[in-house]
Amino acid sequence: MKEESIAAVREWLRQQELDACLITQPHNRSYLSGWLEDEAEAAWLLVAQEQCLLITTTLYREVAEKEAVGCQVLVPERHDYAEAVAAQARQHGWKRLGFEAEALSYSAYARLCRNTEGYCALQPLEATIVGRLRQVKSAQELERLRKAVAITDETFAHLRTWLRPGLTEREVQWEIIRTMIALGADGPAFAPIVAAGPHGSMPHARASERPIEAGELITIDMGARYQGYCADMTRTVCLGEPREERMRTLYEAVLEAMRTCEQGLRAGLSGRQADSLARDVLARYGLAEYYIHSTGHGVGLEIHEGPMLSQRAPEDALLPAGAVVTVEPGVYLPGWSGLRIEDSVLVLEDGAEVLTRSPLDLIIPQ
Ligand code: ZN
Ligand code: ZN
Repeated sequence: MKEESIAAVREWLRQQELDACLITQPHNRSYLSGWLEDEAEAAWLLVAQEQCLLITTTLYREVAEKEAVGCQVLVPERHDYAEAVAAQARQHGWKRLGFEAEALSYSAYARLCRNTEGYCALQPLEATIVGRLRQVKSAQELERLRKAVAITDETFAHLRTWLRPGLTEREVQWEIIRTMIALGADGPAFAPIVAAGPHGSMPHARASERPIEAGELITIDMGARYQGYCADMTRTVCLGEPREERMRTLYEAVLEAMRTCEQGLRAGLSGRQADSLARDVLARYGLAEYYIHSTGHGVGLEIHEGPMLSQRAPEDALLPAGAVVTVEPGVYLPGWSGLRIEDSVLVLEDGAEVLTRSPLDLIIPQ
């Protein structure tokens, strides 16, 4: 259990006039309890002024007791989490119980309602304080993130010497996963994207059996996970000389967008301002309509978390110092190809530190 974060949650509960809050989003639960487990149904975490309870099953009891230090582990009979929460509410006289609206199934909600009916009101929460706490990384979290980034860089260094025409996208994908694990990663943070030639116009293309060719654009989006923490990086490469001159000019434009954003990034910018740093560069090159996604997102226990570098971010959502975010401009021309470049970056009071070190050369000489 993270003492400081639990204390912050308790203070927030007081402000919200809640007696307790149920945490069912698995990464929020991992963050607060210290037990890294992604399985949604593995446990519910219940935080109140005096209690920090991890309600789980016999399957997880031992690991939960070992890793969720400071939490009381409770294994209810018949594994009925809702009944266990209701029993706690009765025992402690709780009148208002918050829950994460986006992380509780309707059936679990219905069970909770039945069990607490008449004495404890359920309060759906669109956002809790946990999401905001998670944005600012502690020294230990940063250490793990840096290691995840370093493994990702090392994996890419290997790829640069190993890649050759004729390998299929799936063979490259497998080599990425194999290398990350060999280098000490928990595994990949997400299924690596290897999108060559025409597949490059789809930002989240699935790796196929198509062999990659010399002279085409190959977008590789990958990240290692290390002790729960996710790195995220994209490089676009070309084996030998690019087939078309516009591959080079588009690459230069996207690279300029990324660097401009990284140089302008600092704490206190809004998510929209940060997004605009990259978007304005691509607009100047007449590429605005081909830039079809946001500029970046936070990384941590999840591959996509707050804060967002996006025009859709709330206007008052400012980047905090200590957040680790991606900067990932790209252009996608349907039917032709596309490319993206992405770094992981630490936001500082007066600037930003680029954590990703992988080279940014488009061409891998053959
Ligand atoms: Zn990525
Ligand atoms: Zn990303």
